[in-house]
Amino acid sequence: MSCIATESLTETYRHCRDQLVEAGILISMEVDGLYGFSGAFEDVIERFERYVTVRGSHLQAEVMRFPAIMNRAHYLQMTHIDNFPDLLGSVHSFTGNERDHLKMLDKKKKGEDWTEHLTPTQIMMTPAACYPLYPTVKGTLPEQGRTVDLRSFVFRHEPSLDPARMQIFRQREFVRLGTPEQALEHREYWLKLGAEILNHVGLEAEAVVANDPFFGRGGKVMAAAQKEQVLKFELVHEVATAEKPTAITSCNYHQNHFGHTFGIHTPDGKDAHTSCIGFGLERIALALFMKHGFDPDLWPHDVKNTLGL
Ligand code: ZN
Repeated sequence: MSCIATESLTETYRHCRDQLVEAGILISMEVDGLYGFSGAFEDVIERFERYVTVRGSHLQAEVMRFPAIMNRAHYLQMTHIDNFPDLLGSVHSFTGNERDHLKMLDKKKKGEDWTEHLTPTQIMMTPAACYPLYPTVKGTLPEQGRTVDLRSFVFRHEPSLDPARMQIFRQREFVRLGTPEQALEHREYWLKLGAEILNHVGLEAEAVVANDPFFGRGGKVMAAAQKEQVLKFELVHEVATAEKPTAITSCNYHQNHFGHTFGIHTPDGKDAHTSCIGFGLERIALALFMKHGFDPDLWPHDVKNTLGL
């Protein structure tokens, strides 16, 4: 199944989103990029994750789960605010007295900006599933390094009509912390295994060297460097349109960035290097519904078999 391309890409996205909402797969929350999900959609995500768990079980990764919010102080030690200020999410709340409260309510009633009465909390929205992990891993890693299995909702302020570009979505990640060789080997391994896993559910994803949408003029230089150093690969597949395939999985090599920032070392005292693979679960589920149809009962036999449907 594929959405019919209309006049422009925007219309294609709108049409695709409307189809998914009409079918009840996505539940509109009346903000671009924010949805509820049907039982069938959640079932597909759970089954896909279970399949990933099985395929990665021999790695004996440590399972950890972090919430969709993280420590603001840890966040500020990272370069996310330098590179992606337009994507960040900061949690604020009301800490004033009763008089301030009345003033705030009065502004709300008049339709004025009441948010100036809010103050930042100690919390930021988590921008990537692996970010909350690094500050918790202090000190020296064992000889064999560490491999961690993560899953979290992550936030990106990126309102879009493209149903695959959500403001909050789940990433299933496998992170490796160790020597440069261990980190690179992990990325290469998962790039292949990730493609194979997607293939087994009928998604022939293509691996491309990618760069992130770094902000501003300096961002162009950052993006070019990221591409030149081949730090990030994406496995892309059609969701709304073949014209612009969507990254459904990404494999990143962070070099010593997090190791250096958070004092994580290899046994020889050097900064640890890290890498991660992240499956974009909502995007994968959407790709599956768009490719195989809106009723999982009618999906190809081998795909159903793989997912245990
Ligand atoms: Zn990551």
